Amino acid sequence: MKSTNIALRGLGLIAIALVVIFPFWVTSTANPESYLNVMITAGTSAVLTLSLNICMGYGGLLSLAHTGMQMMGGYAIGLAMLNYDINPWIGILIAAAASTIFSILMITISLRATYLYFGMITLAANLIAMESFRTALGNDGMITEIYRPAWGGVDLSTRQFYFLTMGILAIAYLVQRNTILSGFGRATMALRESTDTASALGVSPNAQRVKIFAIAGGLAGVAGAILAMQGSFMSPEIGDMGGGLIFFVGLFLGGVGTLVGPVAGVALIAAIDFEIRFSGAYRTLILGALLLLCMMVLPRGIVGTFRASRLGSPHELKEEPDTSGEEIITISNGVVGEIAIEAIDVVKHFGGIKAVDGVSISIKSGRVHGIIGPNGSGKSTLVSCLTRYHQLTSGEVKFFGARMPKTPHKVARAGVTRVFQIPHLFERVSVRDNVLTGMYLQERYTWIEAVLRMPRYFISTRAEEKQAAALLHLVGLGKKSEIAAANLSHGQKRLLEIVRAVSARPKVLILDEPATGLTQGELDALHNLILFLKNQGLAVVLIEHNVEFLMGLADVVTVLESGKVIAEDRPEAVRNDPRVIEAYLGRTDISELMGE
Ligand code: ADP
Ligand code: MG
Repeated sequence: MKSTNIALRGLGLIAIALVVIFPFWVTSTANPESYLNVMITAGTSAVLTLSLNICMGYGGLLSLAHTGMQMMGGYAIGLAMLNYDINPWIGILIAAAASTIFSILMITISLRATYLYFGMITLAANLIAMESFRTALGNDGMITEIYRPAWGGVDLSTRQFYFLTMGILAIAYLVQRNTILSGFGRATMALRESTDTASALGVSPNAQRVKIFAIAGGLAGVAGAILAMQGSFMSPEIGDMGGGLIFFVGLFLGGVGTLVGPVAGVALIAAIDFEIRFSGAYRTLILGALLLLCMMVLPRGIVGTFRASRLGSPHELKEEPDTSGEEIITISNGVVGEIAIEAIDVVKHFGGIKAVDGVSISIKSGRVHGIIGPNGSGKSTLVSCLTRYHQLTSGEVKFFGARMPKTPHKVARAGVTRVFQIPHLFERVSVRDNVLTGMYLQERYTWIEAVLRMPRYFISTRAEEKQAAALLHLVGLGKKSEIAAANLSHGQKRLLEIVRAVSARPKVLILDEPATGLTQGELDALHNLILFLKNQGLAVVLIEHNVEFLMGLADVVTVLESGKVIAEDRPEAVRNDPRVIEAYLGRTDISELMGE
C-alpha cells in the first residue's frame, strides 16, 4: 500500500513538472500562443470541475448552474473593470464574491428541494441569470475589453498568464483537499449519505448545505474571472448549460467524489479534445460516446476505480495501532441516577395510527434503560419523538430539567446521540473516518483554519485520531481502521455505528435494536462496550428484540404495547409480570423469549 502511494505521488510530481516546463518547451513550436491558450482553458475547466466535485461529488447537491456561476464571476470582474477600472487582482476576488452570493441565493431558496428538484431550480436560476444579463446590458449582453492583471507595471504575457492559471488551479485543488480532509468535509459527506445520520451527529443540514454551495460558488467565480481575462470578453453564452456538459464528462471520467479525479479527468478530456480538434461535427459525438462508455465501463471514473481496486485500497493493519487503551477515553461525567431525559405524556399519532399513546419515561445517567415490546408497539417512534425526528402530537420532553431542543441536530449538540434501527453507516469511507465524522461536535477549528492548515487544525485532528484508535480498539476494530466500512461484516458495521455515535461524547446514547444479526463474539463486545459507557456515567437507552441480551444489561426495563407502557421495573420483576407475559403470549413462548 505504501509503495502504491509513493508511485502515485511520483506521478503527481511528474505531472507538476510537465506543467512547469510546458511553456518553455512550446516556444520551439510554430505557434506557442495557441498551445498555451489550450492549456489555460483546460486549467480553467479544471478549477470549475473541482468546484462541481465539491458540491456534487462530496456534497451530493446536483448543480446545473455551474456555467452560470462561472458567468457570474466573469461579469462581476468585467463590469467592475468597465465601470470602475478596478485592478484585475482585486477583480478576481470580486468575481469570487459575486458568484458566492449568487450560489447562496440559489441554495437558500431551494433548501427543502430533493436532489432532482434542486437540480431543476439551479437550472432555472441559471437561465434567469443569463437572460438578465442579455436584456439588461444591451448588445446581447456582450461586454469586451476585459484586461489582464499586470506585474511590475507590465501586463502579463500569455506565458505568465498560464502560470497564474496553473497557480490558481493548485490553490483550488488545495482548497478542495483541505476542505474534504477536515471535519467540515466529513460533515459534508455525512450529509450526502444521509440527512438523518448527519443530524444525529450534530451537523445542521441547512447550514452545511449553504456553506458547501458557497465554497463551490466562490471557486466557480474565480474560474469565470480567468476565462473573462483570457478571452477579454464575457457573454451570456458562457453560462449556457450545453457548454457545461464537458465539465460533467471530465468529472465522471476522472471520478466523482475523489480528490484528483476532476483534474485527471479534465486533463484527459483536454488531451483527447486537442487530438480531435479538426474532426468538426464528430467532436461532440466522440465526447458524448466517451461519457457513455465511461458510465458503462467505469462508473466510478479512473481514480475511483483505482481506489476501489485491490491495488489502491488499504489493507488490514498488521498490528494494532498504538493506543494506551481505555484510559484516554472519558466520555461523560454524568451524576449517576440523575434524570437526563424526562418524557411526559408523549403522544404521536400518524393519521389514525396511535404509534405512541401517552408515554412517560425517565432516562437516568449511569443506567442502562431497556425498552421492549412486540413489533409495532411504538419503540422506535418513541425515541424519534425524544430526539425530535418526529414532532409530538402532544406531550413534553425535558433534558436535564430544561426543554429538549426542537431539531435533531440541536438535540445531538445538547448531548443525545442515537443509532438507528436501520443501519446508516458511511460505507464508502474508511472505518476511521466513520469514527472521526462522529467527532464533528468536538472540532475546535474553523473551515478557514482547516484550509490554511493552521495549528489548531493539527492539534484537534491528532487528538481525534488518537481517540478514534482507542475507541476502535475497545470493540476489536483497531486493525480495520484503514479499510472501507463496506468491507466489514454486518456485526462489525453495527459496532462501528455505535462507536461513531459514542465518539460524539454524548450524555445519552440511544441504541435501536443494535444486537440484530450479531455473532456471539460481537454480542460480547457490544455488552462490554455498553457496560463501559454506563460506568462512564452515560445514560444508555437500549431497545432490543434479543431479550436475553437486554436483561443481562438493563437496570430498568420499560415494556410497550400498542403505544402504551404496560410495565416498568427491574429486569427480574418484568420477567414475571403477568401483563408482560400476556403481551408476548400467542407470539412465542415467553420463557424462550426471555432466554430461560
Ligand atoms: P417498533 O419500533 O416498536 O417496532 P414503530 O415505532 O416502528 O414500532 O411503529 C409503531 C407504529 O407506528 C406501527 O404501527 C408503525 O406502522 C407506525 N409508524 C411508524 N412510523 C410511521 C410513519 N412514519 N408513518 C406512519 N406510521 C408509522
Ligand atoms: Mg423499531
